Amino acid sequence: MTKDNRLYYKYSDYLRNKYGEKVYKLPINLDLTCPNRDGCVGLEGCIFCSEVGTGFESLSNKLSVSSQIEKNMLYIEKKYKAQKFIAYFQNFTNTYMPIKEFEKAVIDSINNRIVEIAISTRPDCISDSYLEVLKKIEKDYNVNISIELGLQSVNYHTLNKINRGHSLAEYIDAVLRIKRYDFDICTHMILNLPWDDMTDVIESAKILSVLDINQIKLHSLYIAKNTSLADLYNKELISLASKEDYIDRVITFLEYIDKNIAIQRLVSRAPAEETLFCNWNTSWWKIKDEIEIKMEEKSSYQGKQCNYKNGSAISHIK
Ligand code: SF4
Repeated sequence: MTKDNRLYYKYSDYLRNKYGEKVYKLPINLDLTCPNRDGCVGLEGCIFCSEVGTGFESLSNKLSVSSQIEKNMLYIEKKYKAQKFIAYFQNFTNTYMPIKEFEKAVIDSINNRIVEIAISTRPDCISDSYLEVLKKIEKDYNVNISIELGLQSVNYHTLNKINRGHSLAEYIDAVLRIKRYDFDICTHMILNLPWDDMTDVIESAKILSVLDINQIKLHSLYIAKNTSLADLYNKELISLASKEDYIDRVITFLEYIDKNIAIQRLVSRAPAEETLFCNWNTSWWKIKDEIEIKMEEKSSYQGKQCNYKNGSAISHIK
């Protein structure tokens, strides 16, 4: 067992347990947008969302789904001698399209080395109809399906501030609905949004744990150029948490998170040329190391404070 396995449940271990070896994600970039950008829900998008969404590492969306898979697979296979892959529909809102087109895109991503398909979307963009299509694909093609939901904060005041265009209720609805179809759920969170404090961090961990989701991807807030957040930053209307504060928030979050939830990421990765601020000018892996060292020093570990479920106030009564 490596040092950090004792500290938190790493996604790489989760995949190894599930698939028997290391599995790599292949990003797919579809030519689509998001209801929070095209006027359906809003026009401005989330205040941190850049013009390319999160697709910094993706290939052009002009390439077909199967070409993107083939090109990325070839590259990763050569670099890491990889054998098994996850087709990752990453950028923007991947269920925001007619259901037939969605079905075709998902099926086009499948080949005999794809063991899982991960679909990233908004909580207000997943419905029973789309989940039924995915369930049929899962059965027909013998491939696992997982859904990634952006939430970022459980504080509904903060959700308004960042212009998410949905509240906590839509997220809870999406999770309960997806669970009925038995797909794994990953949730994306930003622990250092300027309007959130440690109380929000703890409440986030508790809500995600009681909803029994499967994975979490943590993002440290970065400021992409040409975003509403960049305007606030340039006008000095927001103050950013320090690196030490971020590290404390991550450690506290992990302590309150159920030990069975796998952690996909602890720190954001964004190219310096696309951002005004990212990770306190420190590489993501150095911050990850700092988190792990501090957890060791404090005898901290994932789930250490996950004692709030199942009638915690009556647990002492015999
Ligand atoms: S929901 Fe996602 S794609 Fe849409 S504006 Fe927000 S971050 Fe961007």
